[in-house]
Amino acid sequence: MSTIPVMIPWLGEEEAQAAADAVRSGWVAQGPRVAEFERAFAAHLGVPHAVAVSSCTTALHLALIGAGVGPGDEVVVPSLSFIATANAVTYVGATPVFADVELATGNLTAETVAPLLTARTRAVIAVDQGGVPVDLDAIRELVEPLGATVVEDAACGAGSLYRGRPVGSTAQLAAYSFHPRKLLTTGEGGMVTCQDGEVAARLRRLREHGMSVSASDRHAAGGGASVLETYDEIGFNHRMTDIQAAVGLVQLRKLPAMVRRRRELADRYRELLGPLGERLVADPEHGTGNFQACWLLLPDGALDRTELLAGLAAVGISARRGIMAAHLEAPYKGTARVPLPVTELITGRSVILPLYHSLTEDQQDRVIAGLRELIG
Ligand SMILES: *Cc1c(COP(=O)(O)O)cnc(C)c1O
Repeated sequence: MSTIPVMIPWLGEEEAQAAADAVRSGWVAQGPRVAEFERAFAAHLGVPHAVAVSSCTTALHLALIGAGVGPGDEVVVPSLSFIATANAVTYVGATPVFADVELATGNLTAETVAPLLTARTRAVIAVDQGGVPVDLDAIRELVEPLGATVVEDAACGAGSLYRGRPVGSTAQLAAYSFHPRKLLTTGEGGMVTCQDGEVAARLRRLREHGMSVSASDRHAAGGGASVLETYDEIGFNHRMTDIQAAVGLVQLRKLPAMVRRRRELADRYRELLGPLGERLVADPEHGTGNFQACWLLLPDGALDRTELLAGLAAVGISARRGIMAAHLEAPYKGTARVPLPVTELITGRSVILPLYHSLTEDQQDRVIAGLRELIG
């Protein structure tokens, strides 16, 4: 009996060919394919600027700098998120302030953010957890009059829609991940999108050591001494490679098919899980998700989650504990300013079910049978 993993990226010959072409071209670091991937990603979202970087973590780092966040500032974030969301705030010398989330979406709301706003709040990071669109407008209406910026952590969100538009596309700044645990993958990789041309130009410099003229532009100009770069502020090496971008261009074309298939499989879980199906994460009123993480909130009194995961593993099914909560981990322990009961409920009582493009209905039936047998 083969094991059913929780996720397999949908990669094929076309991606292998694209990566090989990049290698054969001799240009493997950030170059023409990164520029093409940025244009294609911006066009897909309908945003003016997209800056490719090495991960969503580095995308969040740059987005916070772009939002003017620095030492002494506070940034409201959900604790219920991959720890990179909070860590990015720490990288810029600011303090992550943890807000609770709503049960239905696992996301921040204006109501959970409001009590945490102070005179020091410089930004809020609104996460589209598991690809479920966050209600961005409500949070922006609350926060922007105070002079703070809402950065969207759309790490999981490529392919999800918010009020009919791609998730992240309406934010001042948004960050995406192309890690294989998300839908569209480049191995490792990320993107920052933004509305403002000057901010985008600064982020392009910051991802490349603060260089005023990028290495690929210098090369394109003939590499002559006529294009001398300067270094006007301290930057980073947050670049994506052309090999990754080549894969990303293929993956972006496949994204609509990935989302369609994942949504079909999520619907099928909901139908066939019986009463348990109602405990599966679902689309909110304001958008549609890509089911990057398809989580099930375990009923009260059902068997212990560790036992459930072990029971599933025993029949060859790999599920995962639910999304983590940063305030329960060592670096942030004891820092929560308010109780986070919904966060603790979701992180403690949910499991993420196997869901990937090539999951067959027979395999999914095995997962459903395993869950129904163990939970009832
Ligand atoms: C995966 C993830 C990240 C980090 O993405 P990387 O590309 O691995 O750096 C950040 N935020 C959220 C919400 C994520 O799910």
